[in-house]
Amino acid sequence: MLDLRAQFETIAPEIRAAIEEVLAAQQFVLGPQGDALEREIAEACGARYAVGLASGTEAIELGLHACGVKAGDEVIVPAFTFIATGSAVSALGARPVFADIEPASFNLDPDQIEARITPRTRAIVAVHLFGLAANMDPILAVAEKHGIPVIEDNAQSFGATYRGRKTGSMGRLGCLSFYPSKNLGAYGDAGMIVTSDEKLAARLRALRNHGQTGQYLSTERGWNSRLDELQAAILRVKLRHMADWTAKRQAHAQLYDSLLRDVPGIVTPRVPTGREHVYYLYTIRVGGRAGGYTRSNEKGNEARSDLVQQRLKERGVASTVYYPVPLHLQPLYALLGGKPGDLRVSERASREVLSIPIYPELTSGQIEHVAHEVRDAVLRDR
Ligand SMILES: *Cc1c(COP(=O)(O)O)cnc(C)c1O
Repeated sequence: MLDLRAQFETIAPEIRAAIEEVLAAQQFVLGPQGDALEREIAEACGARYAVGLASGTEAIELGLHACGVKAGDEVIVPAFTFIATGSAVSALGARPVFADIEPASFNLDPDQIEARITPRTRAIVAVHLFGLAANMDPILAVAEKHGIPVIEDNAQSFGATYRGRKTGSMGRLGCLSFYPSKNLGAYGDAGMIVTSDEKLAARLRALRNHGQTGQYLSTERGWNSRLDELQAAILRVKLRHMADWTAKRQAHAQLYDSLLRDVPGIVTPRVPTGREHVYYLYTIRVGGRAGGYTRSNEKGNEARSDLVQQRLKERGVASTVYYPVPLHLQPLYALLGGKPGDLRVSERASREVLSIPIYPELTSGQIEHVAHEVRDAVLRDR
């Protein structure tokens, strides 16, 4: 799915120089590299401040906490996302309330929010999944109507835009993950929050460092959640290449689109007007539309996407189902009482989605080969 070595080979001398610089400075936590990266990321996201953290998951956790979410509160979260979106809520002792998604964008359906708001709702997490922004204007409107903050889980969509705004800059705060596989990936765990709220940024700086606001002076209980200098130096090198890498992902996506768009039984990603997709993943649906069929997990049968994935594997082509189990059906959340049939759009997506390799260093020949095999695997039993 991803060849990190291919990318490293294009930037190895720059990375080694950046690491050398940190080794020479011998400052490893909270130093000049982290400060510089925060300024650069804030600017890239169109936000005033950025606060480096230890991971994307902790960015969501600290972000929710800083917005006042506490034990017993409810947070509205899309059901179709990576588990961390929900577990960050649970880590605070709060309860995730799962909402369904839009079928075309795989993102939180703005029309599914209001019915889930109760007096205990303290936040809404909008996830920008796969590289595409959620439909933020109606999400922000319903949140504002009820006086509830919106937090953006921007772990997968750094650099994406929505009606001229950058993802991460539209809600109260935006959370980034620099997990190695992400479009901007560190060589270890790292994350960040961007916000234009000065007080919130200052509070987050304290929260990530044991709640300290002065020399060994803690004002509140905090975390140890800091982005280290080696990761910051590496990320600053990679940030310089992001525009080029994103353009390559977009070109690859266009090629996949042209090769797969008209294949019966395949639905290629749809990008609503006014949004720029950064293709963290290139995710198709198999089955679903155009006379296709869907085997149902509910009846104990194999999901269509699993079948296609298996066929591709036999031909030496990687693919992955992101995500095979929506959050309301995760064993972790069994106690919340979610049942199959509760959130049908998310459940159907989990049976039909298949992500195929997309990263900057792929060649057109490789893309054509993958597309050919995908087409073959889908059409075989038609
Ligand atoms: C990767 C990811 C996270 C968590 O980020 P980490 O840095 O791995 O903790 C959260 N939400 C989504 C949607 C992600 O893809």
